[in-house]
Amino acid sequence: MSERVTPAPPAGSAPLIIVVSGPGGVGKGTIVDELVRRDPTLLLSRSWTTRGQRPGERDDAYVFVARSAFEEHVSRGGFLEWTEFLGNYYGTPVPDPDSHRDLVLEIEVDGARQVKARHPEALLIFVLPPSRDEQRRRLIGRGDPDDKVLERLRKAEEEEPIGRAMADHVVVNDDLEATVDEMLRLVAARRKASGRG
Ligand code: 5GP
Repeated sequence: MSERVTPAPPAGSAPLIIVVSGPGGVGKGTIVDELVRRDPTLLLSRSWTTRGQRPGERDDAYVFVARSAFEEHVSRGGFLEWTEFLGNYYGTPVPDPDSHRDLVLEIEVDGARQVKARHPEALLIFVLPPSRDEQRRRLIGRGDPDDKVLERLRKAEEEEPIGRAMADHVVVNDDLEATVDEMLRLVAARRKASGRG
């Protein structure tokens, strides 16, 4: 198997942080998987969570940890951002300083706000569902119990105006390929603007 060589960005330019945020059930996970598949120079950050693993969920979807381990990591300054979302902690580990790859974060709006405060140059893309019905279908399809689906729909409504206001770009995910095409264009434009295109 041939190995893909990742081109290093010009000396002195920090990697770009691409934040993909949006309400639950919008298809963020599928979008970011497709983003890194289509541009293998992108690195997908793996979050930590105290949420239990869902049936059928990949082992590497998150680093699944106990609350005590999460809190200990917080106290060591191990997270770029973290938050409590519907009773569980979620956090992005501080990126490897030796990595020169542009980093993709798939996180909710409070985390997106924290990243933007620390890294104003980060590219923040907020994804919207094509409709509430489609969003509900996706949330139900994930296998969460009904009360969790309702809770997540309520949370999604609360997140939407905040995310829209904060984002550099808002994208409606009605077609996966078109959504990813658009995002890759946004990434290319940002790379170009920062002299790395
Ligand atoms: P889920 O439990 O459905 O996997 O994720 C719940 C929410 O947490 C989603 O909106 C997801 O994008 C967000 N999330 C996942 N990882 C992180 C993280 O590291 N930090 C923050 N702030 N949110 C995250």
